[in-house]
Amino acid sequence: MEEKEISPAQRAAIAEVERHAAHNYHPLPVVIADAEGATVVDIDGRRYLDCLAAYSAVNFGHRNPRLTAVAHAQLDRLTLTSRAFHSAALGPFCSALAELAGKEMVLPMNTGAEAVESGIKVARKWGYEVKGVATDRANIVVAHGNFHGRTTTIVSFSDDPDAFTGYGPFTPGFRSVPYGDAAAVAEAIDDDTVAVLLEPIQGEAGVIIPPGDYLPQVRDVTAARDVLLIVDEIQSGLGRTGATFACDLVGVTPDLYLLGKALGGGIVPVSAVVGDADVLGVLRPGQHGSTFGGNPLAAAVGLAVVELLATGEMQLRAKTLGESLREGLTAYLGHGLTAVRSVGLWAGVDVDPAAGTAREVCERMMRGGVLAKDTHGQTVRLAPPLVVTEAELDRAVAALGSALRP
Ligand SMILES: *Cc1c(COP(=O)(O)O)cnc(C)c1O
Repeated sequence: MEEKEISPAQRAAIAEVERHAAHNYHPLPVVIADAEGATVVDIDGRRYLDCLAAYSAVNFGHRNPRLTAVAHAQLDRLTLTSRAFHSAALGPFCSALAELAGKEMVLPMNTGAEAVESGIKVARKWGYEVKGVATDRANIVVAHGNFHGRTTTIVSFSDDPDAFTGYGPFTPGFRSVPYGDAAAVAEAIDDDTVAVLLEPIQGEAGVIIPPGDYLPQVRDVTAARDVLLIVDEIQSGLGRTGATFACDLVGVTPDLYLLGKALGGGIVPVSAVVGDADVLGVLRPGQHGSTFGGNPLAAAVGLAVVELLATGEMQLRAKTLGESLREGLTAYLGHGLTAVRSVGLWAGVDVDPAAGTAREVCERMMRGGVLAKDTHGQTVRLAPPLVVTEAELDRAVAALGSALRP
């Protein structure tokens, strides 16, 4: 991106961030001030189509009117009690979310990483108290290329050097096997294995879709070996793939769902572990918690999100619009793209190095009025809000096409 293409106002705003915010991100040089639906507007009034949707946290569109109305109403009543007292909003949220997932119980937390951490703690405790694993012997099987968040324990089982380098010593008790290989999972399981933790589709890795029989086979082997199947649907879940859960696409029911991102409606961080009482029931008072987990504002917004998903409208949009997205992207195969992976309104496309890096393609798309995000050098991820229109999608695909022809 050339300096002169950025307005003085945006350049000043970016410089302030670079001076005073830690440099743990490398954002595109655009400063957003307003948004609605699938459109964001920068501080100079320039409009862009958002094709990232805050990594799927804005699945239902920026400032979705149904969700902001609920948030406004809740802000005017009660925002925080802590879990030391009951709040009126928590019960309806947990019961609706449990029903949406076909489970009995919800453990509400805030961020995705906390949901993952909570799932790991629950699985270990279940392993010791229910399965009968000897103290401190539990192991959890994970997959190469995983992304489950940024805490010390979670980066302990990442194989991305950027994610783990410099953060040791690492938490033991994880074994990583190739993604998409159910036989490798089966081989890694032993009598001390308490859980297999997987993304049903790997988002950060570049929208990696495993073979259709992968999750069903992992489900079979985990059930046979008395091992919990924990599915991280923080990015894949809640409509993105054209189904409520990506697991639905292959007919798999995990023991625990980990949810986050879109559960907060793009308004507040809301995450959850969802499962049955025989697993989540291992948590007794005082054994786990979070000051903000399940707070009234989060619960009200989360309930509105669940009610929105219960209509099936968003899932249907993702499914039907996803078909045109895939068709549009596939046209560039061999013409700037070397691979297209997509499911619902979620696509990872690999850029032919002759067309530049994925970052360069994203910068050119930005100049063309479309915001998308590169991952791992040559991959561009497209994940527009599910409220995107067909015409907007066509514009996104065309902008990618132009960006592939510098
Ligand atoms: C984003 C993400 C997380 C972490 O969520 P945070 O809210 O950023 O902590 C975990 N798992 C997956 C699959 C994700 O995409």
